[in-house]
Amino acid sequence: MIRQYEMVIGLEVHVELSTKTKLFCGCSTAFGAEPNTQCCPVCTGMPGALPVLNQTVVDYAVKAGLATHCHIASHSKQDRKNYFYPDLPKAYQISQYDLPLCEHGHLEIESAHGSKQIGITRIHIEEDAGKLVHNKKHGTMIDYNRCGIPLIEIVSEPDLRSAEEAKSYLQKLRAIILYTGISDCKMNEGSFRCDVNLSVRKAGTHVLGTRTEMKNLNSFRSIVRAIDYEYKRQVEALEAGEEIVQETRRFDKNDGKTHSMRRKENANDYRYFPDPDLPPIYLTEETIASLEAQIPTLPDARKKVYMEQYGLSAYDGECLTTEKAIADYFDQAVMQTKYPKLLSNLMISELCKLLPPDSDSLDLEPAYMAWLADLSGDEIINSSTAKNLVQEVYTQKTNPETIVKERGLEQISDVSILQPIAEAVLAAHPKSVADYQKGKTAASKALIGQVMAQTRGKGNPQKIQEIIFGLLSKT
Ligand SMILES: [Zn+2]
Repeated sequence: MIRQYEMVIGLEVHVELSTKTKLFCGCSTAFGAEPNTQCCPVCTGMPGALPVLNQTVVDYAVKAGLATHCHIASHSKQDRKNYFYPDLPKAYQISQYDLPLCEHGHLEIESAHGSKQIGITRIHIEEDAGKLVHNKKHGTMIDYNRCGIPLIEIVSEPDLRSAEEAKSYLQKLRAIILYTGISDCKMNEGSFRCDVNLSVRKAGTHVLGTRTEMKNLNSFRSIVRAIDYEYKRQVEALEAGEEIVQETRRFDKNDGKTHSMRRKENANDYRYFPDPDLPPIYLTEETIASLEAQIPTLPDARKKVYMEQYGLSAYDGECLTTEKAIADYFDQAVMQTKYPKLLSNLMISELCKLLPPDSDSLDLEPAYMAWLADLSGDEIINSSTAKNLVQEVYTQKTNPETIVKERGLEQISDVSILQPIAEAVLAAHPKSVADYQKGKTAASKALIGQVMAQTRGKGNPQKIQEIIFGLLSKT
C-alpha cells in the first residue's frame, strides 16, 4: 500500500551566522553564556529602541546564496512578521517577506539513482528568538541571549522524495555553509536546524497533497526518523479516508512519533509589512563580485579534484568533502603518501569514526596517516594491521613507524615461516579440508583465518592464501 504513494519533502533550514555581534545590536553572540547576560534594549524589544543592520550578516547571507547558485537581489528589504510568542519580546520578528536577498538557487546531491539537483527557493535573513527553559522548580524561564542572533533561512523546493535524499541534501548544504566559513553549523548547539515540510500523493500524480511541518529537528537521525514516521502516518490516514490537516507537528525522540502542536498559520496571518526602522538593502555588482571572490573551493569542486587527481570514487570524494576539517586534513596528508586511495580508505573507514561531531579541525599530524598508508602500500604491514593502528596513532599521537617497530607488527611474508604454520593448521583441521574437497569453498576461509590467527594477525594475506590453496590442491 505504502508503495502506491510518493512522499514530497521540502526543507527549511535555519543557520546561525557566526558574526561576533547580533543582527541589530552590538551584543555578543557567544554560545553558552549565563542566561540574560548578552542582551540590551534593542534585542529585548524595549519600546523606542532602534535596530541597526549588521553589515557582516548581509555579506554572509550573500555568500551562502552565491555558494548555492542563487540570484542575488540588488534591492531587498526587511519586514516585520507579527506573532506573539513568549521568547519573542517585540511580538514581531524581523525577517524578509517578498524581497529576499537570494533566490532561485540549487545544489547537487548523490542519491541512490545517481546525482540529482535540488532547487533552492530562497535564502533570507532574519533574527532568532530567545529560548524557553523549562524547570521543575521555577516553571518556565526565558533566556534572551539568543534573541537577535542572526539567522539565514534556506528554503528548498519540494524536490526531495525520501528521508535519504533529505539527509544527503542537508549534509551537502551543511558542507557548503561550513566551507564558506559563515557558520560553525553545530547541530548540537542549534546553529544548524531544520524544519521538514512533508506531504504525500498517489505515485504518478502531480498535485501536491496537504503538508505538515515538523519544527526544529537538530540531528540527522531525528530528521530521518521523523520523516519515515510522518510519511507512514499520512498514508495510513488517507487510506482510512481521513483528511490531512495543515499543521505544525513536534517529533518526540523518545516515542519516535510526531504530535500535533498547532494549526499552521498562513502568510496572511502574520500581517507582514516593511520594517519602518530599517532602510532597504542595496547591493552593487562590485560588492557581490568581491564577496564571490572570497568563496573558497567548494565541496563539489574539491570532490572532482579528488576523483580526477587521485582516482577516488564519487562516494569516497563525497565522504572526504562533507566535513571541511577532514578535506583539509586529506589535502595535507595526501601530499606525503604514495598511496592516495589507501589513505582515503583508512580515513573514511577508521579515522572519521573517531572524530567528535562538529570538529573544526583534526588534531593529528597529517604525515602520520600518510606514513600509515605508505606502510600498508609498501606491504611492510598488512591492511588489517593498518586499520587497527589508526585508533592508536590518533589517540596516542604517535608516528606509526615507531609503533610498528616497537611492537614488531611488520607483516610476515616469508614463505619458510608461513608454510609450516599452514601445514600444521591443515593437519589440525581435517574436517575443514574434507569440506573444501566436497565443494564447500568457504571452508578455505576458516583455514586461512587460522593461519592468520597463528601469526597474530601479521601474516601476508595473499601469501597465506597462495600457500593454503597450494596445499589444498595437493590433498
Ligand atoms: Zn542587544
